[in-house]
Amino acid sequence: MDLRTICAQGGRAHDVSGEPLTPPIVAASTFAFRDQRAVEEYYEEGRGWLYSRYENPTVREVETFLARLEGGEAAALFGSGMAAISTTLLALLSSGGRVAAQVGLYGGTAGLLRDTLSRLGVELVWLDPGEIAGVRPERIAGCRLLYLESPVNPTLRIVDLRAASRVAREAGAITVVDSTFATPVFQRPLELGCDLVVHSATKYLGGHCDLTAGAVIGSRDLVERIARQRRALGGVADPFAAFLLHRGLKTLPVRMEAHARGAAVVARALGEHPRVTRVHWPGFPDHPDHELASRQMSGYGGMVSFEVEGGASAAECVHDRLRLFVKAASLGGTESLVSLPARMSHRHMPREERERAGVTDSLVRLSVGLEAPEDLVTDLERALRG
Ligand code: PLP
Repeated sequence: MDLRTICAQGGRAHDVSGEPLTPPIVAASTFAFRDQRAVEEYYEEGRGWLYSRYENPTVREVETFLARLEGGEAAALFGSGMAAISTTLLALLSSGGRVAAQVGLYGGTAGLLRDTLSRLGVELVWLDPGEIAGVRPERIAGCRLLYLESPVNPTLRIVDLRAASRVAREAGAITVVDSTFATPVFQRPLELGCDLVVHSATKYLGGHCDLTAGAVIGSRDLVERIARQRRALGGVADPFAAFLLHRGLKTLPVRMEAHARGAAVVARALGEHPRVTRVHWPGFPDHPDHELASRQMSGYGGMVSFEVEGGASAAECVHDRLRLFVKAASLGGTESLVSLPARMSHRHMPREERERAGVTDSLVRLSVGLEAPEDLVTDLERALRG
């Protein structure tokens, strides 16, 4: 079924006659049993509800919705993208195990791997962006997991998910991909051979900058394992956030098409501007991964990054002079946002690592919102004149 139909119908696959059309917010932390027999049925047959750190009806609605969107058997929802990512990694890795990860991951994920997981005895293999397209089996030999992100923040490089996950499978490793920038509207990693897809639902999936949530989607086996770890770590989603996320998901395809249309207009205008030295947008034929993006994704997304003549101070000047673009972290909301990655999202990354990931001091990142693209172009042109 088309994603637009699934979303418009609230992700429900069953007949909703006699039910509320939107999921009720079940705020209860605990659930009443009729008698001990009902308690036994819960434990033995999985019938009913026990406690909201274990499962919750509002959260479950969204999990079913997300599983359908990504074409997975099951999904688990979390209180943030980082809760989803950390719980997934802690569920699948143990001390002495190895994980291969691409350079240039979202800073929080890179920090988790570099600081927390290595402290717990997990061995790391960092793969350069150029290596990912043709991962050599010997590079990931002995790895339990291959962790990827595509498109990459903020350089918008694209990882060949089909090729990478094939090599990982042959090496006996599970492939996990962060698909936050693409959303299931533009990229379906499970269909490309990846085992698990993770999202910061705080971004496009929610879509209105009014909630924090995260998700992991994949086979029932793997997701149940991660959900068991979630009980222990406790990073569950709040039912009200789940309700907001459900509401946001209903318009996801419409919003993503509009974000992508706006980003294309903004990228082309920047591409023609004499003070812009480089535009990172996978829709340009001369983008290093354009052909791969066109094959792997059904749209180029709503993010655009660019570099300005004059280095860090010129980038700061353009950033400060923008009026419509809100100066803020995050992405994927209705309002266009601007940030300087080297001084915000990648601020705590060691300089050497940042440069390896292609995050220069003159890089400006835009999350193109749902405003009229012409207004955004006018704002950028005015800021660039400064
Ligand atoms: N993955 C990506 C690509 C992100 O950009 C972010 C946050 O910016 C995260 C994961 C973490 O998500 P959250 O902030 O919801 O914990």
